[in-house]
Amino acid sequence: MCACAGHACWGIAQGETPLAVAVRGQPAGYVIVRPAVASASQVYAAEELQKFVAQLTGVSLTVQADDQPLPKQAILLGNTKYTEALLGQAPDWSVLGDDGFRLVTRGNHLLILGSPVRGTLYGVYEMLERFGGCRWYASWHSVIPALDALTVPALDETQVPAFTLREPYWFDMFNGDFAARNKVNGSGMRLIEKHGGKIRFGNGMFVHTFEKLCPSEEFFDTHPEYFSEINGKRIKERTQLCLTNPDVLKIVTARLLERIRKDPAAKLFSVSQNDWRNGCTCAACKAIDEREGSQAGTLIAFVNKVAEAVEKEFPEVWIETLAYQYTRTPPKTVRPRHNVVPRLCTIECDFSHPLDTSAFKENRKFVEDIRGWSAMTDKLYIWDYVTNFRNYVGPFPNVNVLQSNVRFFKANNVVGLFEQGAYQGRHAEFAELKAWLLAKWLWNPDLPQETLMSDFLNGYYGKASPFVRRYIDALHAQYTDPENKPLFIFVDVMKLGVADAFPLQALILWEQAEAAVKDSPAHLYNVRMSAIPVLFAQLARSVGVYEIKVWCTENPRERLNPVAQRLAQDMLSRFDEAKDIRLSETPEHHDVILRNWKSIAHPAIPEHGQRTALIGHDLLTLQHRGKWGETVADPLTESGTALKLFNTHYEWCTTLKFEQVAFDPGKRYKIRARLRFDKIPGKDGIAVWAGVYDTKAKQGCGGITLNTAQVTETYAWYDIAEFTPNINQYFWIGPGRFDIANGETSAINALYIDAIELSIQITH
Ligand SMILES: [Zn+2]
Repeated sequence: MCACAGHACWGIAQGETPLAVAVRGQPAGYVIVRPAVASASQVYAAEELQKFVAQLTGVSLTVQADDQPLPKQAILLGNTKYTEALLGQAPDWSVLGDDGFRLVTRGNHLLILGSPVRGTLYGVYEMLERFGGCRWYASWHSVIPALDALTVPALDETQVPAFTLREPYWFDMFNGDFAARNKVNGSGMRLIEKHGGKIRFGNGMFVHTFEKLCPSEEFFDTHPEYFSEINGKRIKERTQLCLTNPDVLKIVTARLLERIRKDPAAKLFSVSQNDWRNGCTCAACKAIDEREGSQAGTLIAFVNKVAEAVEKEFPEVWIETLAYQYTRTPPKTVRPRHNVVPRLCTIECDFSHPLDTSAFKENRKFVEDIRGWSAMTDKLYIWDYVTNFRNYVGPFPNVNVLQSNVRFFKANNVVGLFEQGAYQGRHAEFAELKAWLLAKWLWNPDLPQETLMSDFLNGYYGKASPFVRRYIDALHAQYTDPENKPLFIFVDVMKLGVADAFPLQALILWEQAEAAVKDSPAHLYNVRMSAIPVLFAQLARSVGVYEIKVWCTENPRERLNPVAQRLAQDMLSRFDEAKDIRLSETPEHHDVILRNWKSIAHPAIPEHGQRTALIGHDLLTLQHRGKWGETVADPLTESGTALKLFNTHYEWCTTLKFEQVAFDPGKRYKIRARLRFDKIPGKDGIAVWAGVYDTKAKQGCGGITLNTAQVTETYAWYDIAEFTPNINQYFWIGPGRFDIANGETSAINALYIDAIELSIQITH
């Protein structure tokens, strides 16, 4: 990387007169000159320059090709026929690569030197951003100031990016115009020819490709030996490939080559493990992996062989693979070939502190792993995670680790950086801020955070900026305590390590922020959307985030929480206004959160109070449906169905969270269940256990354990507990415990649940 990159050493020549590129109210003096034979991105660069200069100053510059005479004052793009003469020598294009650029003034002329790929276009954006004050903060929010004059000081400056692959993988960054303006070039962005294209994974070979290249559906039944052996058995479900099997190598190589031939312009193809564990442990694989101290041993040896074959036909193509979960530890002796790109993933890490300073043990291990990989390749990529995938719109205080982590990757010779954010919708927590900061740092990790933060916050939030800044600082201060929980990328908003009072205090800041920009619709929109995570956190703190399924209260209206209702209504109105918001990575979880917000905002309250609630088995949650139990027809119940729990386990598999119950706080309740048992003749033992458990107090609040002698084959009600409900509790029931370890089997064939009943107890 060129030492000149960054603001610290602009090559501005002192004492020389700045170029007045455009002056408001005056005729255009400058002409944009591009090569007569220009790439699509250079043609577009000229158009973009023309467009934004007009927006900045009202002056319309003309564009001409270099087959015309050199104008008196010109902005020359790329390699024109005048470039060499103006510079006095041929520029060194090789240092610029595809993406770098050099901005240099000579006399009255400004030269924007860059490759026909993307460098020229990036040089234009740099000039507009730096000297015009143009900012592209989000696809819907740019700042193009009105200037009296656009001037460029005399300068000679070269910039090349810190990372050749730059991919802030956030929903809004997929917009091609927006991505190009922020100089990102990753595979996921909709960058087309005019943007100079991108660094692209070819023909569907992006990530987790084992299953695509050698499908278990196609081969397992005839060749189980192609797939993972786990505990002595070849597996078909959630399997990987047996990487020492020579036929697997042949199939993968042949099928990959077929794909490359159909898309030879792509640079990268992934040959990588599926998105689960289960690496092969057959004798041949195990021997290599034990010797190498990692399952990356067989992986890299295998990928090397594929890459060697590919190189013969496609010497420019690189084969990427994942060093992910069970393959993250580098092998002891096997080395990736020169056309193999290992991509290391940070999924296990804590993001409350920088990767290399966190005391968390997974972070320390990651640091050890990256150093190992970094020493054995000059093509190391990273897949990093920068959002909360469980609750995209929950607070996730990682802003202060982003730069440290990018710098840490750079220091470890990483050349490609993928920063996976909320990619399925806009307005995840500070999505726009984080995506923009990352784009800047992927170009130059040394740009000061403070400068960038103020720039973004002022431009994106206007007069609300000081309040948003105070909120960001306050949120991050919640996580400075080293005793605090690590911040993982699947953290539930309910379990976030912030003080109980924090969201409510934070809401006050956001109300102030809203008031500050009430007359500026663009800023107001940004503020309203950015406040959603705090509304969500407060809702979770005050009432939980679960839909009320059961009403058992004497005064239903009193059970309504008007504050929570207003919060939920407010969030829904923002959600509807933005349209593209996604609440969680998994669609099911997105739906659950949304349904819960709706049920809190518009509850279906019964007219009158009820002291007793009959809760059908369909309202209970059953884990591992199909394996631990299932819903079956049962003529002995009123509904005609029952929940049957199998005798294969004794887990607390069936539950009801009291977050889903509207109860009267402080009152005593009784819970009972209507059950029947399919007993095993002549066998004695525990038939059922059930109770109420408090997750916060980490203790039971009453329950029963009944033996076969105490239960019947026909339906009967069984009292389970008397307790005072709170939202941290849940009801649970499972078949009775037995000694599996010593080969003991269950005392029953099955347990059938018809319903449970909750009732308020008369207090004396
Ligand atoms: Zn194997």
